[in-house]
Parts: sequence; C-alpha cells; structure tokens
Amino acid sequence: MATGFVFHELYLWHNTWNWAQFFPPSLTVQPGEHAENPETKRRIRNLIEVSGLLDHLVTLKPRPATEDEIARFHTRMHIADIKAKSDFGYGDAGDLTPFGKGSFEIALLAAGGAIVAVDAVLEGRVKNAYALVRPPGHHATAEAGMGFCLFGNAVVAIEHARAVHAVERVATLDWDVHHGNGTQSAFYADPNVLTISLHQDGLFPTHSGSASENGVGDGLGYNINIPLPAGSGIGAYLAAFERVAIPALMRFKPDFIVVPSGFDGCGMDPLARQMLSSEAYRTMTQMLMQAADQLCSGRIVMTHEGGYSAMYAPYCGLAVLEELSGVRTNVIDPWAERMGLWPGQALQPHQEAAIGRASELLQRIPQ
Ligand code: ZN
Repeated sequence: MATGFVFHELYLWHNTWNWAQFFPPSLTVQPGEHAENPETKRRIRNLIEVSGLLDHLVTLKPRPATEDEIARFHTRMHIADIKAKSDFGYGDAGDLTPFGKGSFEIALLAAGGAIVAVDAVLEGRVKNAYALVRPPGHHATAEAGMGFCLFGNAVVAIEHARAVHAVERVATLDWDVHHGNGTQSAFYADPNVLTISLHQDGLFPTHSGSASENGVGDGLGYNINIPLPAGSGIGAYLAAFERVAIPALMRFKPDFIVVPSGFDGCGMDPLARQMLSSEAYRTMTQMLMQAADQLCSGRIVMTHEGGYSAMYAPYCGLAVLEELSGVRTNVIDPWAERMGLWPGQALQPHQEAAIGRASELLQRIPQ
C-alpha cells in the first residue's frame, strides 16, 4: 500500500519576518531571515519532486481545520488571539513565534493537513503518510504558541483520530531535536496516549523534557522523555530507539502512531548540536515501521516540525519518505558518508547513562 504526502504552497507563505526585531536595541543585529523560514521545507518538497519520489506518493490535499477541531486542544482565547493578530497583519504567538497576515488561515491548513493524513491512513487509503506542514506545532500549548508553533498539529490530529475514528490507544514518537513540550502537556494525564520525545537535553524549552517528567495521575508512566546529551550521534539515537522507544511502543501496544518529525537533529543544523545523517533517520524510520507493522498494521502519520539546515534537511526528508514508501530513488546524499565518519558517532558512555535512566521508566507501562 502507498504512502500519502501532504503539502500546500501556502505553508511557505506563513511569514516569520526576521530575527533582528527580537533583539533590541535593533542595531545590534543585522536584519536577516528568521530561522523558521520557508526555504528548508521548500527544498525538502523540491528534492522529493526532483528525485522522482513524488510520482510514487499519493498526494493528499490539505483542508483547513475547523475552529472546533483546533479547540479539541486549544483554548478559544488562544484561537481568537492568533486570528486577531493575523487579521491585523502582525503578531507574536509567544517566545520567538512571529507571524503575519494570513498565518491564522495557514495554521488551520497545517493542522488540517495533519488531519487529512490521519483520515487517509485510518480509512485505509494509504498505509502511512507524511504531512510536510508549516507552521510546526509541537511546542504550542493549549493557551499559547511557542517556539515557532501556533497550533499543535500532532495533538489536533490525534484528537481527531480519537473523536472521529474511535481510535483508543495512540503513541507519539517525537524525534525533533527539541522537546515536544506541547504534545506532552496535552496528554500528560492521559493513559491512552503514550508520548515519547527524543531530544537534545535541555535545549528548548530550556530545562524542559527531563526523564523525571513521566506523566501525572492516570497518565503516570505514559510520558517518556529521552534527553540525549549535546553531541549525540547515530549510536546514541539507535540505542535510544532499541532500548527505550521501541520497547515502550511494544509494551503500550498502540492502535496508531504519530511522529512529530523534525530534522534539526542532523549534523548541520544551526539551532542544535546533534550529529545525525540521513542514514540515521532512514534507520530510525525502518525500526519504527517494523514495530508499527507488528503493532498496528503499519499505521504511521508523520507531521513535520523543525529542521533548519536548508542544505541538509532535504536529504533527511527524502530518506524518511523513501523508507515509508519502500521506493528508493537514485539520489545520493553527498554528505552522509563523511558525516558517518565523524568522531563521536558511536554510543558514548555518558549518552548510554542517559539512555539507561530513561529505560528505567519502561516498567511503568503495564504490559
Ligand atoms: Zn525542533
């Protein structure tokens, strides 16, 4: 069965202005593009087309999410605030999250893109799907935007799956390099959604995402953070998958898996300090698909989050989509081999210790 692909040109029209205005006095920073600008996503989309892979994917046309669908997670006040600022032509959703005219409608289209991907997978029209949406979503909380995110696309998609498709147990595996704090907050007390986040320890939000944040009330045990030290490479990520993320999925037995997918863990990202190559993302996708095949007929939806290396993120995106679809193109990642030889790619003792601490949480998920 095929792989669905969600994209819309309007995702690239979400205006994030430029960095300089955030750092008064303004003449200390030369004006330049915001890190979360359209170029990275445009280049991912372009490489998928130029490689020929797009011809093998099922194009899924996004629709705007309704305000009621957004309100399954967000407060009406937050929704109204984003709309008012978008209509005005400028606003900041919170913590470095500027946007311009029309961003409200584009953010609805991003959340709606994730919903469309969920529908296609859960209705059996495709086996899995990747929603290359923008703005991203995993930092947004119920009340506010944050970290370039306006609405929590993955959370809205999961709530849609539960409300419309009667899916009972959902797991999320967030491999964006930053902590998926918004997704965590949405389901922190919920034993029917397992949230797993692999991220660079303490990067963003600062001091968020420690292994001790393990859920609360009925949800205790169902939130697993795997904070990896800066400088982690392929060895650390694959060990985190083998020893924590995949065993957690096997214990939880989800009906459906959602992956907030960022490529800012790559070795060339300007906002983080991990060392993954496209081959690492390829292997993580393979491991996840193998688990999903056993657990939930392979049903995976990935929603795009961060990734700020315009040069390198496209190769990571292509590798993930090649694995999801089972179609290999003849594109060769020109940097993967060299990156794989960087010192420190193998699992280091301090990384192993961090993974060991996270693995102690597994026993809290009843089998
Ligand atoms: Zn990120």
